[in-house]
Amino acid sequence: MFTPRLTQVQDYEPYIGSEAVDRILSKARAFEHLHVANVNSTYYGGGVAELLTSLTLLMNSVGIKTGWRVIQGAPDFFSITKKMHNALQGGEINLTERKCRIYEEVIYENAVRNHLDNHNFVIIHDPQPLPMVYHYKKRGPWVWRCHVDLTAPNRELWNYLSPMIEKFDAVIFSLKEYRQNLKTPQLFFLPAIDPFTTINRELSEAEKDERLEHHNIPTDLPLVVQVSRFDRWKDPEGVIRAFKLARKEVDATLVLLGNVATDDPEGPQVYESLLDQQEERTIIKSVQDTALVNALQSRATVVLQKSIREGFGLTVAEAMWKGKAVIGGNVGGIRYQIDTGVNGFLVDSVEQAAEKIAWLIRNREKREEMGKKAKETVKQKFLLTRLLEQYLDLFGSFETIYRFLG
Ligand code: UDP
Repeated sequence: MFTPRLTQVQDYEPYIGSEAVDRILSKARAFEHLHVANVNSTYYGGGVAELLTSLTLLMNSVGIKTGWRVIQGAPDFFSITKKMHNALQGGEINLTERKCRIYEEVIYENAVRNHLDNHNFVIIHDPQPLPMVYHYKKRGPWVWRCHVDLTAPNRELWNYLSPMIEKFDAVIFSLKEYRQNLKTPQLFFLPAIDPFTTINRELSEAEKDERLEHHNIPTDLPLVVQVSRFDRWKDPEGVIRAFKLARKEVDATLVLLGNVATDDPEGPQVYESLLDQQEERTIIKSVQDTALVNALQSRATVVLQKSIREGFGLTVAEAMWKGKAVIGGNVGGIRYQIDTGVNGFLVDSVEQAAEKIAWLIRNREKREEMGKKAKETVKQKFLLTRLLEQYLDLFGSFETIYRFLG
């Protein structure tokens, strides 16, 4: 039988050095008594599930019992929480009593069946499971980890959620800019990628060919790629328009690859709305295939993430890890990854995106030079061991507080 093996912190040694490995392992030893629960709303599709898949395993590998629960709900529940997600990113919401009741009832039901009473550290991800905090007697800190772009949250929704958020012992946002007016202490952790997953590990050329062929993706012309959930905030229409403009200057194939998360009922509509723009050189695919994500990101001449709101944007770091100079929307967490003109480009319009697509296709040497810097940026700042260490430090700071309180 195949013997499965978990990634260990030691596997990161070639990237982070042995001193960092030893430091992390020695910090982790202090927390073997912890029993951590993470709660989110989808087991795949989207960055939170991607992060939890890797981070929960890495935490277990260093001896910290770390679990992951996914809340359940019918489509009407997820249609409400998706509206909340949109409103936190600045959209409108008609927050009726009916919606609030469904939201709170479904979360109560999830709380009843999840039994988080014996965990001594609970991390709730994003707004969907937020009210769970009301339904348990805490045995340790509860932390709210919000991954969305909070540049301009809808005030009505924020006022409704604030009392729930203030029941937590700390909140973690991705960027300092997302700081809110809250009584709860606020921390800022940038997300990170796991270089050993199917999305990020190094594929052989044959493996890449096989995946691209399997999905009928032509490789005769340079590939221009955006990989992201079918979501308006990712601006897929803008990518198609930019590509059309760029094609007046250069020849290429556009591939928009996306998936739909189980907590996002708007995804299929967004996908379908794009389909009449498909043509021979504009390929739009809705398929869940992480090896294809890897093959596309590593074979692409140009990778885009033209979001108009983006909490962080793991896809940016993923492509940069593969040595790509990414063209990213000048928003949220993308700004923390791309140093424009150095390791990629930040753009504010379709026209700028088009210009950069053509420039990158034409300038191979510069493109490759920027791509090398992009990979180095990820190695320095966006590998999962950095995030693991931030969590260990957070556990440590709570231990100090709890000891102080007796
Ligand atoms: N992803 C995927 N298949 C797809 C589209 C996205 O596996 O068709 C992955 C992508 O590689 C990344 C995650 O889903 O790991 C998306 O995370 P990101 O932070 O970019 O965006 P989010 O969906 O969380 O807004």
